[in-house]
Amino acid sequence: MIARSLFREEHEIFRSSVRKFVEREIVPFHAQWEHDGVVPRELWLKAGAEGLLCCTVPEEYGGLGLDYLFDVVVFEEVWRVGASGPGFLIHTDLVATYILSFGTDEQRRHWLPKMVRGDAIGSLGMTEPHAGSDLKAIRTKAVRNGDEFVINGQKVFISNGQLCDVLVLAAKTDSAAGAKGVTLFLVESDRPGFAKGRNLEKLGMKAQDTSELFFQDVRVPASNMLGQEGQGFGHMMTKLAQERLAQAIRSATVCEAVIEWTVDYTAQRKAFGQTIADFQNTQFKLAELDTLATMARVYTDKCIELFMAGRLDPVDAAKAKMFVCETHCKVVDECLQLFGGWGYMWEYPIARAYADARIVKIAGGSIEIMKMIISRELFKNHVGKVQ
Ligand SMILES: Cc1cc2nc3c(=O)[nH]c(=O)nc-3n(C[C@H](O)[C@H](O)[C@H](O)COP(=O)(O)OP(=O)(O)OC[C@H]3O[C@@H](n4cnc5c(N)ncnc54)[C@H](O)[C@@H]3O)c2cc1C
Repeated sequence: MIARSLFREEHEIFRSSVRKFVEREIVPFHAQWEHDGVVPRELWLKAGAEGLLCCTVPEEYGGLGLDYLFDVVVFEEVWRVGASGPGFLIHTDLVATYILSFGTDEQRRHWLPKMVRGDAIGSLGMTEPHAGSDLKAIRTKAVRNGDEFVINGQKVFISNGQLCDVLVLAAKTDSAAGAKGVTLFLVESDRPGFAKGRNLEKLGMKAQDTSELFFQDVRVPASNMLGQEGQGFGHMMTKLAQERLAQAIRSATVCEAVIEWTVDYTAQRKAFGQTIADFQNTQFKLAELDTLATMARVYTDKCIELFMAGRLDPVDAAKAKMFVCETHCKVVDECLQLFGGWGYMWEYPIARAYADARIVKIAGGSIEIMKMIISRELFKNHVGKVQ
C-alpha cells in the first residue's frame, strides 16, 4: 500500500469531525433532497458553523486561514458517502477563491465572512446555452453606463443556481475583442432584473440545484467588477488548474468508496453456492480497478502537493482530470456490474454513483478539452507543422 503522506494530525482530527457531520447532517437526508432537487439552506448554515466552508479564507475576512488540505478533507468526506447534493466545492474552491484572488479589499470584506458562515451561497456563471467549452463565444453583455454596468443575457447549467446569493459572472464588455473583451462581475441575486429560471432535471446529482439564470437590464455598480476590465478570460484561465484538481480529488475519492462498497457486497452476495467474491472474475476485476484507483490517488495527491507549492501547471492538471475522471466512470460502471440487478436500483448507492459519475467527463472542461491542452503542449515545438 502506498500510504498517503499529505495529511498531518490536525487534518485527520478535522477529518473525523467532518465525517461525523456528514453522517449526522447529510447522509440521513440526502434521498429527500434528491426529490426536492436542492439541499436546504439550513445545511449551509450548519456547515458554516462547523467551519466546513472556505477553510483557507484568512482570519481578517472571517475565515480560519487554514491550508488547502482542510478544504480537501471536506470535499473528500462529502464525496466518500456519494453526497452529490451540497455544492460546497463550487462555493469554496471556486467562488471564494476568485474573490480572494481578484477581489478588492472591500469585496472580500463584504462577501467572504458571509460565505464562510454559509449566509451567502456562491455560484460561478460562465456557461451559456450556446457556449460552454468555447467560453470566448459567450454573449451575455455588460455595457458601461456612467458608474454602472448594465447586464443582459443568460447562463445555463449553473451549480447552486437556485440557492445562489452571489454570482461570479463572466460577461462581454467588448464584443469585438474576443477573449480580451470578457470581464468578471460579482452580481447579487436580489438585483432587479436577475431571474432564476428552471432548476434543471438531470441524469444524476439530483440533490444539486443546477439552473438557468437570466439577466434583463441588471444594473451593478462598477465597483462590482471582479479583477480588471477585459481580463476576465485570463483570470478564469489562472483558476482552471485548481478547478481541475478539485474534480480529480472528487473522482479519486469516489473510486475508492465504490470499490469498498463492491468488496463488501460481493463478499456477502451468493450465487451458485458461493459468494460473488469467490468468482475469479470478481477478484480480477476488482484487482484491476483498485490498481487504477491507486494510480489515480497517487497522481492526484502529487498534484495537490504541487498546487500547494504554487507549481501545478495546467497540463498536469488536465492529465489529472482526464485520467482520474475516466477512471471514475470505468470504476462505477464495472462495480455496478458486480451488483447485478440491485446495482441498477436507486436505493443502492452504487446506482446513484453511476448516475452522478457521467458529468465528470463533461463539466469544468470536458475530456476532449483536456486532450487538447495536453496535445498542444506535446506539439508546441511543431507549430504550423501539425494541424
Ligand atoms: C451538472 C452540471 C453542472 C455545471 N456547473 C456549471 C457551473 O456551475 N458554472 C458554469 O459556468 N458551467 C457549469 N456547467 C457547464 C459545463 O462546464 C459545460 O457543460 C462544459 O464546459 C461543456 O460545455 P457545453 O455543455 O456547452 O458542451 P459543448 O462545448 O457544446 O461541447 C459538446 C461536445 O463537443 C466537444 N468539443 C467542444 N469543443 C471541442 C474541440 N475544440 N475539440 C474536440 N471536441 C470538442 C466537447 O468535449 C463535448 O463532448 C455545468 C454543467 C453540468 C452538466
